[in-house]
Amino acid sequence: MSKTFSIGGIHPNDHKISQNAAIEDFPLVDIAYISMAQHLGAPSTPVVAKGDYVKVGQLLGKANGFISANIHSSVSGQVTSIEKIADLAGNLSEHVVIKVDGDEWIDGIDRDKQIVRDIKLDSKQILDKIAECGVVGLGGAAFPTHIKLSPPPNKKAEYLLVNGAECEPYLTSDYRIMMESPEEILIGVRIMMKALGVTKAYLGIEENKPLAIKKMKELCSSSYSDIIVVSLKKRYPQGGEKQLIQAITKREVPSMGLPIDVGVVVQNVGTALAVYEAVQKNKPLIDGIVTVTGKCMTQQRNFKLRVGTTYDRIMFAIGGFPKDAVKLISGGPMMGKAVSRIDAASVKSTSALLLLTDDDTRRGEESNCIRCAKCVEVCPMGLEPYLLNRLSRAGRIEDLETNMVHDCIECGCCIYTCPSNIPLLDTIRLSKAQVIKIIRSRPKK
Ligand code: SF4
Ligand code: SF4
Repeated sequence: MSKTFSIGGIHPNDHKISQNAAIEDFPLVDIAYISMAQHLGAPSTPVVAKGDYVKVGQLLGKANGFISANIHSSVSGQVTSIEKIADLAGNLSEHVVIKVDGDEWIDGIDRDKQIVRDIKLDSKQILDKIAECGVVGLGGAAFPTHIKLSPPPNKKAEYLLVNGAECEPYLTSDYRIMMESPEEILIGVRIMMKALGVTKAYLGIEENKPLAIKKMKELCSSSYSDIIVVSLKKRYPQGGEKQLIQAITKREVPSMGLPIDVGVVVQNVGTALAVYEAVQKNKPLIDGIVTVTGKCMTQQRNFKLRVGTTYDRIMFAIGGFPKDAVKLISGGPMMGKAVSRIDAASVKSTSALLLLTDDDTRRGEESNCIRCAKCVEVCPMGLEPYLLNRLSRAGRIEDLETNMVHDCIECGCCIYTCPSNIPLLDTIRLSKAQVIKIIRSRPKK
């Protein structure tokens, strides 16, 4: 029987209309714009200069501090500038701009498709290789993976949970890699298990991907019996870290806590593949699978896209903006971000571009709260979104903390459900940031 989390959640139409589109290599671009701020933590420090010739896989930016990640070139060519350029939301960050010339790779990257099964590196060497290759979490947060795989000495990991739920509507990049590179993912899982020193991992997949479940179960039962495939109910946000942990292990991550507090580390299937490529193929994280989808598109796509490709270049490759498209989202409709700059470039964690029509995006007019409690029913964190919204609007920060606004996972279930079209998440998100800042500024006990 499929497992799931205990409270809240919604069942939106999953619109996985791009699930049967096989992964295609995206054509080489003329100019790549590679951001130094692609991960959670401090931006990387450029180690190249204007005029340098760089090859694919060459280090462009060095990790700068404890929480940071290396950044490598996804293309070969000449560095034409290092300058501040806006990201998709319009925030400025330093980019290395490269005029592409051919496709020359550095020596030492194994580009052969042959699967490498034997894991030769020990735990410390694995962590060093993952850090060197700039691997970050591809489930959304882009947290440096080597840090997540290095629990503090007073915490012990018991299980690795691998997230293959892909519960956001429309997204299919994780599904495609599970269908096209299943064994590489499982080897990536084994590598992370070795790094963590755990003997058991669980791979959770939503039941709307029966072929991926079947494929992974067959492989695990024949050759990877230490990895258990778990079928999960189709229910959003099933792939949320806390929801996944609860569904599979029945453990509850405490408020403001981390999965490691309950002996768990969660990684995404895309990260597992990137770990495989780093450790077994010596390949830095320079590309990823990006779903380009929408009901207004005649052909749904899943591209293998090099980091630093601009959104307008992607639009050009699919034949231009479909005439009905009015909005572009990076990511899924529930947690994705609206693209306000079409000339912004993709980053390591870019997973989808969703084209929405006027009909898809229409929000009804906001009216008064009718106290129906639907938002409370669907909140997977057990919060009272109507109350948090009221307190946020009134700026009652202390009461917001008492009512646990900091536990909000920004899933959007409340706003999706509210019959009065109240933009609950918009107000909650702002006050959540304020409350977390206050909590973190307090001296630790
Ligand atoms: S966005 Fe926050 S408040 Fe709204 S349902 Fe999700 S967790 Fe609850
Ligand atoms: S769902 Fe909307 S209308 Fe209903 S209680 Fe919540 S905020 Fe009020």
